[in-house]
Amino acid sequence: MVRRYLLLSPGPTPVPQEVLLEGAKETIHHRTPEFVNLLKETLELTKYVFQTQHPVYVLSSSGTGGMETAMVNLVNPGEKAIIVNAGKFGERWVDIAKAYGIVPVEIKLPWGTAVTPEMIEKALKENPDVKVVFTTYSETSTGTVIDLEGIAKLTKGTDVILVTDAVSGLLAEPLKMDEWGIDVAVSGAQKGWMLPPGLAFIAVNDKAYAKIEKCTNSRYYFDLRKYKKSAPDNPWTTAVNLIYMLNKAVKMLKEEGIENVWARHKLYGEATRAAIKEIGLELFSERPGNVLTAVKSPIPSSNLTKVMRDKYGVTIAAGQEPMKDEIFRISHLGYLTPFDIITGITALEFSLNELGYKVEIGKGVKAAEEVLFKGLVG
Ligand SMILES: *Cc1c(COP(=O)(O)O)cnc(C)c1O
Repeated sequence: MVRRYLLLSPGPTPVPQEVLLEGAKETIHHRTPEFVNLLKETLELTKYVFQTQHPVYVLSSSGTGGMETAMVNLVNPGEKAIIVNAGKFGERWVDIAKAYGIVPVEIKLPWGTAVTPEMIEKALKENPDVKVVFTTYSETSTGTVIDLEGIAKLTKGTDVILVTDAVSGLLAEPLKMDEWGIDVAVSGAQKGWMLPPGLAFIAVNDKAYAKIEKCTNSRYYFDLRKYKKSAPDNPWTTAVNLIYMLNKAVKMLKEEGIENVWARHKLYGEATRAAIKEIGLELFSERPGNVLTAVKSPIPSSNLTKVMRDKYGVTIAAGQEPMKDEIFRISHLGYLTPFDIITGITALEFSLNELGYKVEIGKGVKAAEEVLFKGLVG
């Protein structure tokens, strides 16, 4: 059987040909005026994605490097930080904090649930000495999105810094950094950006930067003071070819328009959730977002993901520990067409049947198609 490779995983995501071809261009020296100008233009363009007028820095790392950058530049060893931990990526904030001697004040919640502004308000009241809050906009391990705008209302105009891991959430969920008052936002190339892995982004406003300048934590490669000083160049060798690709990807996103990018993800999320419901399965998250759909799996999900990938060429994700075989995660993130969503649901229906979990073929597909048709045609 012919298989076409389709990434419906919450990173990496598909990359358009136009972007891939940019990466094939000749590598020039990173300190030439030609490249520094391109980098400058590209970083200006990335501000649009974050909806900010503040600087965006690009790091040669995966998203986790961006998270580490936020942590080490904002909190001193021995200081406390409020951290929302409702999944694998919230847990990662805690792990990074501990690695640097930072004391996490955890808002620990069951996987699949969402922190509320009230919970953050309470934590801030109980810990008046804490000046930084770390959140996960879209918790990719559970498919949950939080009310980030509502949370930002609590910290905007105060001396508390709000940091969000928007690694997967950016582009898939509305995020207006300046308007909402988010102080630091982190993202990563292989998620909504239509890029391969290898770059992390961190947007920093003035309020956060003032704290960064005073922070005494140890840092070297990820020291944002160095990045600010050498801007628009980078302190280290920039990933030249990835910047070519970023430049193209951001131009494509700008041409589509950020509202349309958000709407595209919303429509695909709605279509996927409708399909899952018709198939007779249950969503895992109590507050599902549009990055991915996490579903309670009726069979061990690693068997399902294996058949979908190896037989049909469709890569989705199983759960992450400790939910490994309990859930599967279909992503609708990044460079996907409505028909990719249909392909994903079809492969899901086939694979479930093949593994002995009987579902009516085409039932989920029909539900998804109806949502897509209504959204696209009316
Ligand atoms: C993908 C992801 C990250 C970063 O993971 P990397 O593998 O380091 O790129 C961080 N947070 C969330 C929510 C993510 O989805």
